[in-house]
Amino acid sequence: MQAFGYGSLGEDKKLEPVMFDRKTPDKGEVAFDVVYCGVCHSDLHQVRNDWGNTIYPCVPGHEIVGKVTSIGEGVSKFKVGELVGVGCMIDSCQECSACNDNLEQYCQGPKSCTLTYNGTKNPDGSNTYGGYSTAMCVREEFILRVPEKLDPKFAGPIMCAGITVYSPMRHFNLQKGQTLGVVGIGGLGHMAIGIGKALGAKVVAFTRHDDKVAQIRDLGADEVVVSSDDEQMQAAMQSIDLMVNTIPVAHDIAPYLTLMKPNGTLVVVGNMIEFKAFSPGPLVFNGINLAGSLIGGIQQTQEILDLCAEHDIKPSVKMIGIDELNDVFEELSNASQSDFRHVIDMQSFVKSDAVTNEQAKAIEAPIA
Ligand SMILES: [Zn+2]
Ligand SMILES: [Zn+2]
Repeated sequence: MQAFGYGSLGEDKKLEPVMFDRKTPDKGEVAFDVVYCGVCHSDLHQVRNDWGNTIYPCVPGHEIVGKVTSIGEGVSKFKVGELVGVGCMIDSCQECSACNDNLEQYCQGPKSCTLTYNGTKNPDGSNTYGGYSTAMCVREEFILRVPEKLDPKFAGPIMCAGITVYSPMRHFNLQKGQTLGVVGIGGLGHMAIGIGKALGAKVVAFTRHDDKVAQIRDLGADEVVVSSDDEQMQAAMQSIDLMVNTIPVAHDIAPYLTLMKPNGTLVVVGNMIEFKAFSPGPLVFNGINLAGSLIGGIQQTQEILDLCAEHDIKPSVKMIGIDELNDVFEELSNASQSDFRHVIDMQSFVKSDAVTNEQAKAIEAPIA
């Protein structure tokens, strides 16, 4: 089927309308029209080849909400007309121990998990295109239900930012009454506050910005600590059971280690590049665990969608038209953290000239 997207044809190119062929559903697959797609900071990194692994053309988007248009043979969980979601992955081997443990994001198969866009780890010329597009086709196992109680505008960011902070809370078994620390209050951090509260934790937020304290309290944080204020940091020493560190850039992690209770766990979810050298002394002397975590498996992603619906946890979103994408990318690259998630209303694209008059550049078909 003919699909239209917004993609980049090279490292120094802006996003532009493209058109390509999407497959129709085979056995076990579900095709849907994209209704909304969130704009994630990784979309920007990938389009600009910041990680050195981008395959062009690159059509980003992994916070996708769609309406089912057709289903392949044997699909049992979804019906035509239903609202569905797709997050950061669309495939995995389904037979390794990680996949069997519902940890598809850590699939140990030959290609690991297939990401929703820029998806092959072993490039053979084939690629995956994401949700900055009018239609998709994905195997049933990687499709999420959008709960009825949840406004679908909010579902996209939950399947990326939400699951990224929820998965370590589940894995490290955050208990009612424990203290959760959230470092960096942007797209990931603002969701971590609401989710931590829903799980019954006391939530302490850490921010560099003293002008944001009131705003962060409004998000539900029990306490807000300004990390550049030595006195406030001193007062928070050894008070945190579980800390989710969402800062997406290289930074000094040493001050955060001193905040952990003995046997506490500090989980890194944002920074994949480097840390400044730090002494492991505080880890050893207080029995602190330093851990990392990547998104979450499909079962947990469904869990967090359901939990957000049940507890009315909403990411802050700003709806945009698809033609605003290049400006939004510019804005995101200049801001260290955004106060909300941009979400593309795909109707803005469906009704545009690029789609109605097919004024889009034809590109090769993706593998999904
Ligand atoms: Zn993302
Ligand atoms: Zn696997």
